[in-house]
Amino acid sequence: MKYEAVIGLEVHAQLATKSKLFCPCSTAFGAKPNTNICPVCSGQAGALPVLNKMAVEMAVKSGLALGCTIQEKSIFARKNYFYPDLPKGYQISQYEKPLCLNGHLDIVTDGKLKRVHIQRIHMEEDAGKLLHETGHENFSHVDLNRCSTPLIEIVSGPDLSTPQEAADTYRKLRNILVYLEVCDGNMQEGNLRCDANVSLRPIGAKAFGTRSEIKNVNSFKFLENAIAYEIKRQAEILDGGGKVVQETRLWNQAKQMTTSMRSKEEAHDYRYFPDPDLLPLVVDTLWIEKIKSSLPELPEAKAERFVSDYGLPEQDAQVLTAEKPMAHYFEECIVGFNAPKKIANWIMAELMRELKSRELDITQIKMKPNQLAHMVALIENGTISGAIGKTIFMEMLNSGTDPDKIIEAKGLKQVTDTSTIEIVIDKIIAKETENVQRYKSGKTNVFGFFVGAVMKEMGGKANPKIVNEILRKKLN
Ligand SMILES: [Zn+2]
Repeated sequence: MKYEAVIGLEVHAQLATKSKLFCPCSTAFGAKPNTNICPVCSGQAGALPVLNKMAVEMAVKSGLALGCTIQEKSIFARKNYFYPDLPKGYQISQYEKPLCLNGHLDIVTDGKLKRVHIQRIHMEEDAGKLLHETGHENFSHVDLNRCSTPLIEIVSGPDLSTPQEAADTYRKLRNILVYLEVCDGNMQEGNLRCDANVSLRPIGAKAFGTRSEIKNVNSFKFLENAIAYEIKRQAEILDGGGKVVQETRLWNQAKQMTTSMRSKEEAHDYRYFPDPDLLPLVVDTLWIEKIKSSLPELPEAKAERFVSDYGLPEQDAQVLTAEKPMAHYFEECIVGFNAPKKIANWIMAELMRELKSRELDITQIKMKPNQLAHMVALIENGTISGAIGKTIFMEMLNSGTDPDKIIEAKGLKQVTDTSTIEIVIDKIIAKETENVQRYKSGKTNVFGFFVGAVMKEMGGKANPKIVNEILRKKLN
């Protein structure tokens, strides 16, 4: 590959306010079409917008968390275009004077730290939604419930060079917004969407190549796939002596390719101008300071605290704090049983693997933190073995039953009675004469075979320490 990719992201996040940006209508998802609307958000003549203060507070929070300078004065503008889901004929957005400027975000990709510039964050309203699959072949329907839902658009610098860096940036942005509780981060419901600008240039060149914009990607994996495809597509055009056309493209996950949506010639001229119905947005310094002091602990600070307070390795702290609900689950476990590294191991190995394979997130499972904590405590005090712990873990995950009840019902308690263990060991030694000979002739590595045989015979319930002690005594 003789080109390097230049990638920038534009992330649209729906702010988690209860009401819309310029009217008191509800933002609740899933309501019956056209029930959460009023004259303002459905674009009736003469209706006047009134700005939602909570939305501004959430936008300022996002800006502060991303290291931006909050502009004391920003301007809402009209972005004019016609579309059936936009009854006003314009979208209210911030254009020349956005609320937040010049922030940054640090990502780690393949162990390498990179600082990504955040050029701006501006506030805007969402449009409605066209419904094409309504059972009426010849009609499309329009649902205006989403009209005027508050959004922020976060625009990164063209600082990313690989699909993975782009996905890591998107993931980190989502985690921060969810930590701040300004966006629920639900990509299925379209509450977080990402556009990617992608261009290529010869390695070492300064000037940018012609870019294409991939619109509305709503998963980290899709974003990675779409950018990788786009890099390959553009490289093939350039290699063939062709020119990349500036255009907007869409990612088709089923076909694993991007397709053209519109070219530069078809691009809208939005004729932005300041909205005469809205005063400039003025945010005073005192309010900014107040919001700053209310910011919650963010992932990086939390990871540092996990290292200093719980003595966790840096890597563990990063993994556990990446998502707020997971960090919370971990800390709830610690309340139940104060063994941070042991709990961290169970969460990072067993729990995260199961969540991934079952496509669940931590808030959707039945196993409560105190149950996991109690099970780890039972292993530590010798009531059950680690292997039995895994059986109990799966059962807790599936049913949310307390570990004590599972142990009771399935008779999983560890056997520590030496005479019971001794009987089994004697039986195995009597049967395995050949292996006993090998052990006695110095091949001590067959010891593990004996331990395994005893454990198997006893259904994994024998206390391994006692098994080891008795075996050693008998064989030597
Ligand atoms: Zn309304």
